[in-house]
Amino acid sequence: MSKLTYPNYTNHCGWNAMLPARTPQAPLSGDITVDYAVVGAGYTGVAAARRLHELDPQAQIVLLEATTVGEGSSARNSGFTAPDVLPRTASMEMAEKARNQTRLFTEAFDWLTGILRDNDISCDMQKVGSIRTAATEAGEASLRKVADVARANDLPHTILNRADIRERIGADYYRYGIYLHDTWLLQPAALIRGLADALPGDVTLHENSPVREMRREGSDWRLVTEGGSVRCRTVVLANNGFIPRLGFLKSRMATIFTYAAVTEAVKESDIGYLGQSPAWGVLPSHRLGTTLRRIGRDRLMVRSLYAHDQEIAQATAVRELRDRFHRRWPGLRHVDFEFVWGGTTAFTMNGAPWWGKIEDGLYASGGCNGSGIAKGTMLGRKLADLIRGVGTPGEVEAVMGAASWIAPEPFRSIGFQIISALESRKAGLEA
Ligand SMILES: Cc1cc2nc3c(=O)[nH]c(=O)nc-3n(C[C@H](O)[C@H](O)[C@H](O)COP(=O)(O)OP(=O)(O)OC[C@H]3O[C@@H](n4cnc5c(N)ncnc54)[C@H](O)[C@@H]3O)c2cc1C
Repeated sequence: MSKLTYPNYTNHCGWNAMLPARTPQAPLSGDITVDYAVVGAGYTGVAAARRLHELDPQAQIVLLEATTVGEGSSARNSGFTAPDVLPRTASMEMAEKARNQTRLFTEAFDWLTGILRDNDISCDMQKVGSIRTAATEAGEASLRKVADVARANDLPHTILNRADIRERIGADYYRYGIYLHDTWLLQPAALIRGLADALPGDVTLHENSPVREMRREGSDWRLVTEGGSVRCRTVVLANNGFIPRLGFLKSRMATIFTYAAVTEAVKESDIGYLGQSPAWGVLPSHRLGTTLRRIGRDRLMVRSLYAHDQEIAQATAVRELRDRFHRRWPGLRHVDFEFVWGGTTAFTMNGAPWWGKIEDGLYASGGCNGSGIAKGTMLGRKLADLIRGVGTPGEVEAVMGAASWIAPEPFRSIGFQIISALESRKAGLEA
């Protein structure tokens, strides 16, 4: 049997559950004809749809979302975002690349924050900063190189030692850290819901409308959902790792699941365990490491684990996330998780996205593996520019690179298992 063309999660997004209920837009029903169809209402798709409207205000644009906007990956993430790019494993050669990427990210970040301001979208966005942390000697060595790049690129930062980190987050787990001043933390479900609900009138969003099939009809495209179909001249695929499930870019990207949990509110007597900073966020030095956040006054978020192509059993995800939580805060072993969920990102062989024109009338931006709030916004916006012939040709590809070839199944799954076993061993206590 062929695979589902969209993510059909077995759990609910904790961030969405923490917000008041929202009424989704009606699913697509019947057959319609529009100018542009955008598949996927995450950061990439919402940015592409909004920008297409800015550049072509008379156009009819439809945005098709498989789930609801509070239940997609753009709501399921950890809510860290920044206009600056600082790679996880940095070398001085990457400093210039990071500077160029920062230029594109900053432009998109300013556009995004302008939309939030103009539309009164509130998503608890605060410039809290973030701490890149290392628990191991290898992690520290790799972070010291990252600090060199931060210095070379004039990114405001402060080096932290074990006691500094313990004071801020309450955990005695990390030996070295870089506090990056220019990171914002936000409520991701509130952000994507706000962006989707503030789309201009000529952009019609249909939720619970997974595209199941796409076909050519003359020079047009037809996108088929369960309740109807869309005929259009131009399609934007903004469904990230699920693009291959619609038959495109199969040799460029794969789907990855990663997991997050939020604790119940800790008792007043346990508040001291959460550190002296009223808000903080921790990012790992290793790519298989663990992200942490204090949420509000009395909760913690833990994000970790990766799986290729399919979800991890919920009981396994809970057990593994609890292990990461307890290792860092042994004094909070009695605290339960209130929400545990998974979300998808995409994996590409060289970490670069696939972005651009596939064929006439068909454009895509996929392979977004992290930093998707700023990166997805930037890539979606730039894709609309490409479609409308605006901007500098070749700029995005030159700055971001292009996803390289990835082996087909079964070699892909075998490769993923081998690499993830080796990397897990390397990650050690960073996980
Ligand atoms: C647990 C977790 C933590 C993360 N932490 C961070 C973080 O702190 N900061 C950060 O910037 N990024 C983070 N990320 C990454 C970030 O969420 C992604 O990079 C981002 O969501 C990518 O945006 P996108 O719009 O390209 O794709 P998505 O957000 O995945 O949006 C694509 C949409 O397409 C829909 N779709 C898929 N198939 C179809 C179909 N056939 N028909 C119609 N719709 C379809 C999906 O339902 C989805 O809503 C995290 C991700 C996860 C899972």
